[in-house]
Parts: sequence; structure tokens; C-alpha cells
Amino acid sequence: MRKNIVAGNWKMNLDKEEAISLVKQLLLEINVNALTQIILAPSYIYISDILGLCMNSQHVSVASQDCSVRDKGAFTGEVAASMLKSIDVEYVIVGHSERRAYFDEDNQLLKKKVIKALSNDLKVIFCCGESLEQRNKQQHFDWIRSQLSESLFSIEELESKMSNIIIAYEPIWAIGTGVNATVEQAQEMHSFIRKLILEKYNSQTAENISIIYGGSCNANNASDLFAEKDIDGGLIGGASLSAASFLSIINSFE
Ligand code: PEP
Repeated sequence: MRKNIVAGNWKMNLDKEEAISLVKQLLLEINVNALTQIILAPSYIYISDILGLCMNSQHVSVASQDCSVRDKGAFTGEVAASMLKSIDVEYVIVGHSERRAYFDEDNQLLKKKVIKALSNDLKVIFCCGESLEQRNKQQHFDWIRSQLSESLFSIEELESKMSNIIIAYEPIWAIGTGVNATVEQAQEMHSFIRKLILEKYNSQTAENISIIYGGSCNANNASDLFAEKDIDGGLIGGASLSAASFLSIINSFE
């Protein structure tokens, strides 16, 4: 059965005290059913603290915002997927548009990161999304198809591991801009992505995968977006930094 997911990507925000206080408030107030999973993606340096706080919660898991493409060795500043696994991190975000844009991460590198994460038993939140220019030129469907084909679908052993993948559709023009994709635009793309998965794999895989929306999703628009049949939740940036707005998004499922 497909899961509803609300993931908070804190990016490079919150100091330690703020992060802990936010998680404590969330843990007191989160009240969701068994089909809903909340995922928090703090900075690497607080992951252990946040994991400790969430240890006894059935509904709240922890993600890393990235992982290295390398296994180990002289790669200063990098964090290996195996290290994340060793402290019981469950998810890793791969392919966020900020990593693609500011750290030159391309589809080939992201494919290797997905393989590294999956082979270390981490689940992957794989991000894809088009620029405004691509959408205006009607290239958005081709672009998403190529991002998924080159980074995910070309991984031979992926079929058996699709239950460990969440896809986040995040149009770049909507991230941090206050301009979200309309419900129609988001649903259309989610349905397209589900169709690609059906064509590549099978109907069960397509039905079961959670496809979440990211890009200025907030307390005001979440319930309309999440009501669509192919939108299974959200990857939330700015609005995940306050307990009130994040809780309100979590409570947006019908
Ligand atoms: C994001 O960066 O993944 C994101 C969706 O950000 P925001 O919610 O702030 O647009």
C-alpha cells in the first residue's frame, strides 16, 4: 500500500538548540495513521541528536541531505552511505536541485549515489524537476524522463529495490520562490512519472511508489495538492523549519 510522506529538508538552517526544540515540539504533536511517514533531514552534524530524539517514534524517520559517491578514504568533508547506515539513518536525499546546481551533480554521478545508498540499505528520496525555461519551452516532460532514465531506470538491480525509492518532483522555479506549481501542473507531472514507472517496471510498482511534491508547499496549499490521486505528500523546505507550519502540512492529508 502506498505511503503518504511528508519530508522536511532543513538545508543549512537551524542551530542545534533550534533543531532539537523543533523536533521535540513535532514529536509531542504529530498524530498520524500507520500509512503516513514523516521524515526529517537535518544537517549532518545534528543527525545523531535527532535520531536519538526520534528513536521511539514509529512515524518519524531521519534522512541525510546527501551522501558521498565514495566508499571511504581521503575525501575531506565527505560522508559515506555506510557511515549513515552505521548510525541508523534510514533515508538519503539524492539529486536535490541545489546539489545539481551548486555542486555540479549530474545524472551520472547521481546514479552512482543512488547505487551507493541502496547497497548500504538506505532508502532514497530521489529529486527531479525542470527549470522555468524548460517548462516555458514545453520541454519539462522530456527533461523529467531523462533525469529518471539516466539516474534511476538505468540501474540494473533497481527493479527489486523500488520499494526503497521515493520520487520527489520539485520544479526548480517553485523551490523557495513562494510560487508553487498549481495542483493541475503537479498532478499532471506526478501522473506522468507514475506512467513512466509503469512502462519501465509494472503496475504494482507504479501503484506502490510514493511520489511527493516539493516547491513552496506550505500550510495553505498542501491539502489541495495532497488531495490529488498521484501526489503522495511533500518534500518541504522553508515551511519545515517551524513546528506550526510543518504540523499543519502533516495534517493536510484527508
Ligand atoms: C526544497 O528545497 O526541497 C523545497 C521544496 O524548498 P521550499 O519548500 O522552500 O520551496
